[in-house]
Amino acid sequence: MQKILIVEDEEKIARFVELELKHEGYDVEKAYDGRTGLALAENGGYDLILLDIMLPGINGIEILRRIRRSSDVPVIMLTARDAVMDKVSGLDMGADDYITKPFAIEELLARIRVTLRKNSASAADTKSAVLHCCGLTLDSNRFKVTYNGVPIELTAKEFALLQTLMQNKNIVMSRDSLLTNVWGYNYIGETNVVDVYIRYLRQKIDEKFKTKIITTVRGVGYVIKED
Ligand code: CA
Repeated sequence: MQKILIVEDEEKIARFVELELKHEGYDVEKAYDGRTGLALAENGGYDLILLDIMLPGINGIEILRRIRRSSDVPVIMLTARDAVMDKVSGLDMGADDYITKPFAIEELLARIRVTLRKNSASAADTKSAVLHCCGLTLDSNRFKVTYNGVPIELTAKEFALLQTLMQNKNIVMSRDSLLTNVWGYNYIGETNVVDVYIRYLRQKIDEKFKTKIITTVRGVGYVIKED
């Protein structure tokens, strides 16, 4: 069950949101002041935090600032109408979204769903961001490639081409599908661009490290094979 923390000093609003969230199947805890909210948030274990800005004790912006020192937990700020500065500083501090009070509960629920989904998607992305194959390690978050630990400098297109081949290892990729994957459907230019970039990759990897990683399949395309 996903767990949400509500930090909101207007008890009526906090209770109403709590009821609605529980009805939607979320586990809910709430705090009515800044200090309690910060203490609960710092203890962690929440999938999302709804954070009011105007709070007794410590305000929401300060709470967010402290949470962000150690946590990426998704935070949706609750702001007063027209408090543009609050929205700006909240987003600057790393809030994921904000909603203006008074809000329709359906809108809040929708924003919670979107934020939770985005967050779980980016967690999955981070996991799959590092590819390994044939001594090569490709980290797409940090835009880094190494061969047996030795860094390889690649241009953006070379990187994307190698990434596509590694993601599809042991699958022969036609020139067309490489073109679409790396250069996009709207690419207008020489169709031999794939061969040109394969040659660049071979110079930087196969020739430099005296290995044979990218295989040509005559009449079809290219493949990186690994048993
Ligand atoms: Ca308030």
